[in-house]
Amino acid sequence: MSTILTSKTTPGAPLLRAESAFNFANEAIIITDANGCVADVNPAFCELTGLCLEEVYGQSLEAFSILSLDDSRTTRFMREQQQLRDRSKCQVSYRSHDGQFYPGMMSINRVRNAQGQVDHHVVVLADLSAIPAHARHLKREVFFDALTGLPNLQLLTQLIQESIQHAEAKQLPLAICSLDIDHFQTVNEQLGAHVGDSLLSTFAQRISHLLFGDDVLARVGGDEFVLLLHHSDDEHFFEKLLATIRKPLVIDGQSIYLTASLGITRYPNDHSQGDVLLRHAHQAMYRAKQRGRDTYHFFDPTQDRLLQVRHEQRQRFMDALNHNELRLFYQPQVDMANGRVVGVEALIRWQHPDEGLLSPAQFLPIIDATPLEVDLGEWVIEQALQQLTEWQKAGIVLPINVNISPAHLLGKEFSERLAELLASYPTVAPAMLKLEVLESAAMHDIQAALKNMARCQALGVGFAIDDFGTGFSSLTHLRQLPVNLIKIDQSFVRDMLSDQDDMAIVESVIYMANRFKRPMLAEGVETLAHAKALMALGCELAQGYGIARPMPPCDMPAWLEGWPQRSDWHSLATLQ
Ligand code: C2E
Ligand code: MG
Ligand code: MG
Repeated sequence: MSTILTSKTTPGAPLLRAESAFNFANEAIIITDANGCVADVNPAFCELTGLCLEEVYGQSLEAFSILSLDDSRTTRFMREQQQLRDRSKCQVSYRSHDGQFYPGMMSINRVRNAQGQVDHHVVVLADLSAIPAHARHLKREVFFDALTGLPNLQLLTQLIQESIQHAEAKQLPLAICSLDIDHFQTVNEQLGAHVGDSLLSTFAQRISHLLFGDDVLARVGGDEFVLLLHHSDDEHFFEKLLATIRKPLVIDGQSIYLTASLGITRYPNDHSQGDVLLRHAHQAMYRAKQRGRDTYHFFDPTQDRLLQVRHEQRQRFMDALNHNELRLFYQPQVDMANGRVVGVEALIRWQHPDEGLLSPAQFLPIIDATPLEVDLGEWVIEQALQQLTEWQKAGIVLPINVNISPAHLLGKEFSERLAELLASYPTVAPAMLKLEVLESAAMHDIQAALKNMARCQALGVGFAIDDFGTGFSSLTHLRQLPVNLIKIDQSFVRDMLSDQDDMAIVESVIYMANRFKRPMLAEGVETLAHAKALMALGCELAQGYGIARPMPPCDMPAWLEGWPQRSDWHSLATLQ
């Protein structure tokens, strides 16, 4: 039989390829002439319908029961509109070889000759009933959205499953795109649900014209659609999709402008199960919304895994907080001029059941910039207040410094919560608690910091500026800050004896603190040599491994007892 396919194509390899595509395609292909009468069909068509070319030759598609699904006024109107276009797509119902009707997706491509006249049509009929056999007996409503005639979530889920298998078997890529119309709620409210409905079905028609072959457009919610793409997963396609959506839609003579946000995930790059792929596409769509809408965002599996790990780590930390795995260690602070212990700094540790004792650097980054910072901060304050109560009972009078994270200090309710915590430990004088605040935190939002610090001071709680010298604070700010102690950062102290620059910083900090009449304490004092140098510069308070390492509270009484016998350190007093 002579076909349009063989008579119009140029001879040679392209012809062979075109013929092979026609003969071996999975989808049924029907070639109709300029008037829509069948000229040729491929083997997939014969297999699907049980009809051979002789039986359908010269007939219209309706004659052998390929029928448009919905014959409402709007669909008829849309069909008429489609007839004006060269590429169109619609959902159909077709009679299969077993005499039953099944859902299909029909794409019609009008092919013109060099003079621009219609020469023939290429009609591709994709079988949407390729769903499990038991589902074929179910009603159409179960699988299709009533308003748009598109596959619904139920059918989509199954189609995704199949597409994954297909992509896996043929090593082909697959993209799932979640599409959500921006501000559709407002359109619905302003124009009414009736216009909203027409808008959605016209919108769906428009999008489906961009699809190719066995690509699928499904409606999964009010204004939420999903595209299952086998051919187009590049940025160019999604740019084109957004541009198409931006073009006005005319409903009842009114031009309506829409935009949408797209989230895309690509298989096998995102090697997940169908429902997870859908969730990832949704997640990416929300990112597109956050990024300002009318845009697309690709899901990033690596980034997602990192977020997942972070999430699990946070959950684990929450458990640690609730199951008493956290500990406060205490590091003494002494006055080198008289050998007296002036207080302790509370330092957090995590007694991890599997990993042992973890230092703050190993877990504080996990909760950085999360509400858990506040939870931990409150736990630390409460724990310190409890410790103060216990020591007080045992006759130990040692003020405790606790470290407060910047976000916690700058929070709105910081001073109120502190007041509540203090109230629940009425035997503890608020002056026994001092809050160590990073210099950088105080500088981050100086007004908020000043306000909260003033409120806490009104409660009787003092402040120390931690890691001083690392935060580039201006002298004006330093003068403003109501602090009772300046702690010179250990990084400068450590190398002050060997590094002239560090020595210069330590000298300047000590000079400044003296000028502003603020007490200062050197952190990281590891040797007597450091201690002597610091005293010579005028800094008398010290904390560091040379004096004591941070220790659990149970070790504190023994350390306090042994400290007076440390004659090397006590001889510093006599140097004065
Ligand atoms: P920081 O407040 O500056 O605490 C001093 C750190 O220096 C402590 O480390 C302490 O063990 C260490 N250190 C003390 N003396 C010496 C010394 O002579 N040599 C050396 N090399 N190190 C010394 P740690 O306990 O690992 O704490 C690190 C940081 O974690 C703290 O720095 C503080 O910023 C933060 N942190 C600790 N506990 C808490 C807490 O309860 N809450 C918050 N938000 N942060 C905390
Ligand atoms: Mg500190
Ligand atoms: Mg420090």
